[in-house]
Amino acid sequence: MTEKVRVRIAPSPSGNLHIGTARTALFNYLFAKKMNGEYVLRIEDTDLDRSSEDFKQNIFDSLHALGLDWDEGPDVGGPYGPYKQSERFDIYPKFAQMLIDKGYAYECFCSNEDLDKEHEIAKEKKIPYKYSRKCLNLTPEERAELKAKGIKPSIRFKVDYKELVFNDLVKGELKFDTSLIGDFAIMKSNGTPTYNFAVVIDDMLMKISHVIRGEDHISNTPKQILIYEALDAQVPKFGHLGMILAPDRSKLSKRHGATAVSDFIKQGYLTEALLNFVALLGWAPSDGVEIKNVNEIAADFRIGEISSSNSIFEYEKLNWMNGQYIKKMDISRLTDLALPFLNMYDTSKFSRSQLERIIEVTREPITVLTDLVHDTQYFFEKPVYDEVKELLEGEIAKNVLPYFKNEVENYDFNNEQEIHDKLADLRTYFKEQFGYKPKETMWAIRAALTGRTRGADMLAIIVLLGKDEVLKRLSNFM
Ligand code: GLU
Repeated sequence: MTEKVRVRIAPSPSGNLHIGTARTALFNYLFAKKMNGEYVLRIEDTDLDRSSEDFKQNIFDSLHALGLDWDEGPDVGGPYGPYKQSERFDIYPKFAQMLIDKGYAYECFCSNEDLDKEHEIAKEKKIPYKYSRKCLNLTPEERAELKAKGIKPSIRFKVDYKELVFNDLVKGELKFDTSLIGDFAIMKSNGTPTYNFAVVIDDMLMKISHVIRGEDHISNTPKQILIYEALDAQVPKFGHLGMILAPDRSKLSKRHGATAVSDFIKQGYLTEALLNFVALLGWAPSDGVEIKNVNEIAADFRIGEISSSNSIFEYEKLNWMNGQYIKKMDISRLTDLALPFLNMYDTSKFSRSQLERIIEVTREPITVLTDLVHDTQYFFEKPVYDEVKELLEGEIAKNVLPYFKNEVENYDFNNEQEIHDKLADLRTYFKEQFGYKPKETMWAIRAALTGRTRGADMLAIIVLLGKDEVLKRLSNFM
């Protein structure tokens, strides 16, 4: 029987959920889905100074918003909890002691100053830093003496020379010369574990079969494998994803645009589009069709086909993709998502079905939901006429608007088809009598009712504004 696939994401709550972590989460989620496995969320908050509840909540909320719900985690529990490292502090010392007993680790009493000096010397000699092993061969008496002085030791893993080879699921065979690593700390002198140690103990106890994460962790992997081997534990399979770079090929950062999932959402990106977009950072659909929902992606996803190179985060492409999702989204859901962005307007004068129609007729050209603030303004407030002043003072408007106002007085607003036909007649009339092009006639009407020369379907605007409002707006131009 093959072993059950269990994957995890292990974000540190020292910032809001980064879009790169969302991609890591998605690839883990997809792999678990594909392999009928389990997907675990573990919060790595051993660095208590940098971790916060707000960031943790942001991580939960952002992952939920993306639909990347976990099978086990701090909030939902599971058989291998707790899933928050700060609640697991009593677990790590036992394993550190086990490594000491087996001769794989030792106590180190060096102070920060001692270590700084070692770093400086290495720097002067222009050689890569490695711990001097000053504390490796302390006698039990010497250790007892130091402890009696109140010095609390850290614990270091003893790295012996070995050529370490592993087969990365994404990058293929990787080789490391462990002599370059140096004896690294697994427990800090304050009794808390280092990242490399906690992650191994947790992955081991949580029976994680595959570790899929960003390649910024690749230099940690040999250290982690050494710990697994020393503990006689099964080493999980590793897969390291290429980095996500900004269009200028530097590290993606806030100066390029949003980087936190919650900021993208605030800017009016749809979670479906974000998820689809990040899936394409390293993965390509076999049929070349890029717009795919998460189930379609899962069906087509093969971990071995993930690109091993870095991906460029093209904001332009995300905008395009978001626009595609906005165009196709179920109108009721889109309206639910859009309304919070329109909270500066009094939307209460419209019924729900009218609001849905407003969104329906304005969604076509927009790329993010925040675009709706501008594009729906004239439905909720008096139009701003700055852009169309000239047009409204021109001859066409002077002829068309009074005539149109007269017509509207007699429109039956319950009969949309009739309004449609009457508008057509009006265009024909002005073409035949005045030689105005149909669009020139409509521009005048649009300018008077919306303050714009472009926008939603005119018939919809007239019907949605209603007779009183249309007449009121036209009366300004008589
Ligand atoms: N806490 C680590 C991070 O936030 C997780 C690394 C890992 O997946 O092993 O990057």
